[in-house]
Amino acid sequence: MDYQGTVIRPPSEAESIIMQVTVGCAHNRCTFCGAYQGVRFRLKDEATVDGDLRYAARHFRHLNRIFLADGDVLILDQHRLAPLLVKIRERLPWVRRIRLYGSGRSLRAKTLAELEALKALGLDRIYLGLESGDDAVLSAVAKGSTAAQMIAAGRRARQAGIFLSVTVLLGLAGVRGSQGHALATAEALNQMAPNQIAALTVMPVPGTPLYHDLRAGRFSLPDWKGILRELKTMLQHLTLDKTQFQANHASNFLPLDCRLARDKEAALARIDQALAGRLPLMPDYLRSL
Ligand code: SF4
Repeated sequence: MDYQGTVIRPPSEAESIIMQVTVGCAHNRCTFCGAYQGVRFRLKDEATVDGDLRYAARHFRHLNRIFLADGDVLILDQHRLAPLLVKIRERLPWVRRIRLYGSGRSLRAKTLAELEALKALGLDRIYLGLESGDDAVLSAVAKGSTAAQMIAAGRRARQAGIFLSVTVLLGLAGVRGSQGHALATAEALNQMAPNQIAALTVMPVPGTPLYHDLRAGRFSLPDWKGILRELKTMLQHLTLDKTQFQANHASNFLPLDCRLARDKEAALARIDQALAGRLPLMPDYLRSL
């Protein structure tokens, strides 16, 4: 397979074929993101993609899912993306499920009819980085979309029958904005009603604007107690039912993996226990992005 630079995939795609059809991210401006620093977004040429499909056909017959990297493959125009999905079905007919990252911008550029057509061609899951439901935070981190735009786009994906997995970032509003970020994010998630929520904790990456702000004293990261209080407020205000809520990424202090609303009280009790020092936390040296 042709992999250029660092190829990032969601943890849940560990058992998928990873095919890099674009390089980088079309937006590439989020202040906390170090994934594609200095990388110009581009679509790989057809010969390279065809070569990867031939390789996958020979070596990955045991995998029935494929994840299309890099940062935001959904940004491709429908006339490029739909034929790509058709080609995957033709060349890898045993692959039943196609997944990719989407952004607020790429998702809102797709109509419901386009999303339904992609779903019919095998696109069954989109990973969307909401990060925060607070517009002031989204603007500060140059996310490129408002909460309302992302809510509408996410709801459209759900309407098209596509599984929606949404990432939020604990700590992104710093110490001062922490509780407002938690409340606004819970509200945005309630309105969006994703199938899955993944809460990660911000870890400023050297070279990013957020890291510079941290070093210069313009941004202060909540400590573990602040992060857990933020997580608690967010969870308390989620009114969703039948949504998987995961905070078990390597960046998190306290691993949580629960089903809302069924397990909500147990998860909140776990957070309280951790805040009281009665549960071990992930040590800093083991936390990573
Ligand atoms: S949209 Fe995603 S990949 Fe692109 S810069 Fe923002 S966080 Fe990074």
